[in-house]
Amino acid sequence: MSIPRETIEQIRDRSRIEEIVKNYVPTLQKRGRNYLGLCPFHKEKTPSFTVSPEKQIFYCFGCHTGGNVFSFISKMERLNFPESVRFLGNLVGIQVHEDRKDEGTEKREYLLKINRYAMNLYHKCLKSDESRGAMEYALGRGLSAESIDEFKLGFAPDAWDFLIRHLQNKKVSLATASDAALVIPSKNREGGGYYDRFRGRLMFPIFNIAGDVIAFGGRILGSGEPKYLNSPEYELFSKSSVLYGLHAAREHIIDMQRAIIVEGYLDVIGCHQNGIRNVVAPLGTALTEQQVNVLSRYCREIILLFDADSAGIKASLRSLDIVDTKNVDVRVAMLPDGDPFEYITQKGAREFMSVVDSSIGPVDFKIKRVLAESGNIDPLKVLFLLFDVIKDVRYETERTRYLKKVSSLLNMDEHSVSSDYEKFVRGLREPKHYSAETEKAPEKEGFLVRSYRELLAIILLYPEMTEQAVIDFSADEITDPVTKNVFTMITSLYSEGKAVSVDIMFDYFPTGDENSLLETILAKNFESINYKDAYTEIYINIKLFNINIKIERYVELIRNSRDNDTREYLTEVEVLRRDKEKLLSYMHQKH
Ligand SMILES: [Zn+2]
Repeated sequence: MSIPRETIEQIRDRSRIEEIVKNYVPTLQKRGRNYLGLCPFHKEKTPSFTVSPEKQIFYCFGCHTGGNVFSFISKMERLNFPESVRFLGNLVGIQVHEDRKDEGTEKREYLLKINRYAMNLYHKCLKSDESRGAMEYALGRGLSAESIDEFKLGFAPDAWDFLIRHLQNKKVSLATASDAALVIPSKNREGGGYYDRFRGRLMFPIFNIAGDVIAFGGRILGSGEPKYLNSPEYELFSKSSVLYGLHAAREHIIDMQRAIIVEGYLDVIGCHQNGIRNVVAPLGTALTEQQVNVLSRYCREIILLFDADSAGIKASLRSLDIVDTKNVDVRVAMLPDGDPFEYITQKGAREFMSVVDSSIGPVDFKIKRVLAESGNIDPLKVLFLLFDVIKDVRYETERTRYLKKVSSLLNMDEHSVSSDYEKFVRGLREPKHYSAETEKAPEKEGFLVRSYRELLAIILLYPEMTEQAVIDFSADEITDPVTKNVFTMITSLYSEGKAVSVDIMFDYFPTGDENSLLETILAKNFESINYKDAYTEIYINIKLFNINIKIERYVELIRNSRDNDTREYLTEVEVLRRDKEKLLSYMHQKH
């Protein structure tokens, strides 16, 4: 962070969150200890947006958005953390002077600069006379001149040193250009040296959310392999969290509260140039969890729109497995023919949108696919394929609804279908080999993750518990990386003698999974609990849990060991059993 910590604290001290929020939420009114109003982040008629002046936080029970005063500004004004600090500083009359930049920031800025230089160079090249062939190709594919400018498409000529010569003229270090994945160190050529990564390709710059170009996708002109060449991952570029076209689509996604996901770069541009602008694409074939997280901050609905060919369907089904549990509504639509680019270019935006609007839920989509592919297969086999889809539905009422639907689709008796389903599920549970243990493991893991997260909530909402928690627990024992990161931050702040509270944590985790975890913690602020008892209960649960795991491990060791090791293990188990007794008797005293 390049803004001095003291300045951030001064600005925080001077900004009362309830007053800052009131500027944006005129309906905000005092209700008991808190303020309540209509949420500015989602449409609602009854207020569920809450501000706690005591804790200096806000939380919406409708859309689960929350944070401190800086996150509020960051979300309202769509600024990153340092920008929100500066914005709020201006509002309350505190000037922000930046620290000298650290080496990491300087390097990142240099990498961005090289990428920007390469983008402009390729773009200029595409528009030059020498590249007439490439331009004809792009226009021939149906790209408009406006789109080529808006998405800054370019052309990398078929040469080993086109970019390199320009970088050398600009005295840019080729080693750094290689860090930016634009040139490649050569192994065979004499005297070392580098060569251009992208040659003879139409270039699609890939932007981060701030609108900086960080990577490229290069499409070969005509035939050849690979059809698309993407920059490999490096310091600034991680494929799994970037979405193509998001810099152009974000405002529209927020406006529409809906994101349309297509497969390719051309599909994104085709939609934008036909006036459908809330469209993005993942950089591989399937959507990743991080990408869904990014989108879920901007909208409540994601529509996966896929080509009529089977690769697209498989990709979408893979995506659905990730998306299923997230805090967004996911729907799936499939084009009757062609890819989105061809479809919207030939049939126009209206017809395209009618396909989007005919989207269905993921389970309905999977059921439809099974039926479409079943052809002449034995109906009973089809039924089992459908059971396999239905078993992943989380709620029983939903499962019942789908079973009913399936029986009517297959023209089968509803009760027999239900009882067959029960048998099918029981069959899955039957232990195969050692599977009883391995199947229970994730459930155990889940219990531990929940317990540590509850612990975090208590520490952050009741800071007087911090000291006790830092003594009782250590970050090393936490396996869930998100919880671990937050806990590590708590211990390091505590050891530096700094205040620990939930609002401050948002400064350290302005985005990402840690930020989402902090948001869920805010919801608990408005529940009244006896936090000391809750802490003791979590403490006992976690300790008992870990002791039981250790005992199981020793029992396993004893079972597989030779006699002379056994005694040592038995002693360990005895010690653990005594610890367990102590905890259990403590628990019984309490109740
Ligand atoms: Zn809301």
